[in-house]
Amino acid sequence: MDIIDEARAVARTLQTGWYGGTVTDVSMLRLDLIHPVISGNKWYKLKQNLWRAREEGYPGILTFGGPYSNHLVAAAAAAKMFGLTSAGIVRGSEFTDSPTLRECRSYGMQLVFVTRDVYREKDNADFIRHIPDRFARFYLIPEGGANKEGIEGAGEIARLIPARFTHVCIPVGTGTGFAGIRKKLAEDVTMIGFVPMKNGVYLQNSIQHYIDDEKLTNWYLRDDWHFGGFGKHPATLIRFMNEFFFANKVPLDIVYTAKMMFGMKSLLQSGFFPSSAHVLCIHTGGLQGNRSVAGQLEYPPP
Ligand SMILES: *Cc1c(COP(=O)(O)O)cnc(C)c1O
Repeated sequence: MDIIDEARAVARTLQTGWYGGTVTDVSMLRLDLIHPVISGNKWYKLKQNLWRAREEGYPGILTFGGPYSNHLVAAAAAAKMFGLTSAGIVRGSEFTDSPTLRECRSYGMQLVFVTRDVYREKDNADFIRHIPDRFARFYLIPEGGANKEGIEGAGEIARLIPARFTHVCIPVGTGTGFAGIRKKLAEDVTMIGFVPMKNGVYLQNSIQHYIDDEKLTNWYLRDDWHFGGFGKHPATLIRFMNEFFFANKVPLDIVYTAKMMFGMKSLLQSGFFPSSAHVLCIHTGGLQGNRSVAGQLEYPPP
């Protein structure tokens, strides 16, 4: 439980029977396998923050998330691994219990619930007055690990990507992971971010800001496969997740990776990629979120 096993994050070619099309190398980098809880991109976005918090002698870390947040539970478990106390500010005061929050508590995270209105102000300087005094000196990690340390840490994922790939695809939430990898990947590799929310292409601006290099333009976002919005999961998506698992024995998560791979299927079927392309899809983890649809999936949630 206490180690991150990066050796398991290997790119493997997917079964191609499920999509048709002419591209023969569509692979997946399984970041979901590095740790059962601190999985996927979350570990990379947290690690440098946690190092810093420990090195600089902070009493603990304070971060943010919703009641089903992959980031919150990963932060709770990773802080514990680093011997740090943790506190979480949770969006909304109506759900004070969920499997995710229960797990956060089991790693010793202290939770503070705030209304959505208050939560929306979390990046403002005077948000501090909503934070209980006992956490005032904690090291602050923004939601989704979206800071300099998070971007740099995510850049480490680039070294797990073999050089043969012409296209690298990853789901996008804040875009921190996307930006970190884009900065470190060879310029001629095209990066495509799949945003699982309506009109998600607006994230382009913040990602541009995170990348902080105007010459680096070989990337774009797609938001066509949001399935009604963030966290929405109609029967078509569930069916696809079961099909994908049947073909590849790879579990996808309901919020991010399932929507990316559904989009990938559409792109492949429409002949979007040249047949010489080598396409890598990054599995960013998040499987704990499947607990909310456990009965509908043909593979057990973690
Ligand atoms: C958090 C998360 C993302 C989004 O990562 P960002 O760096 O915020 O863009 C993608 N996939 C999964 C499974 C996640 O949990």
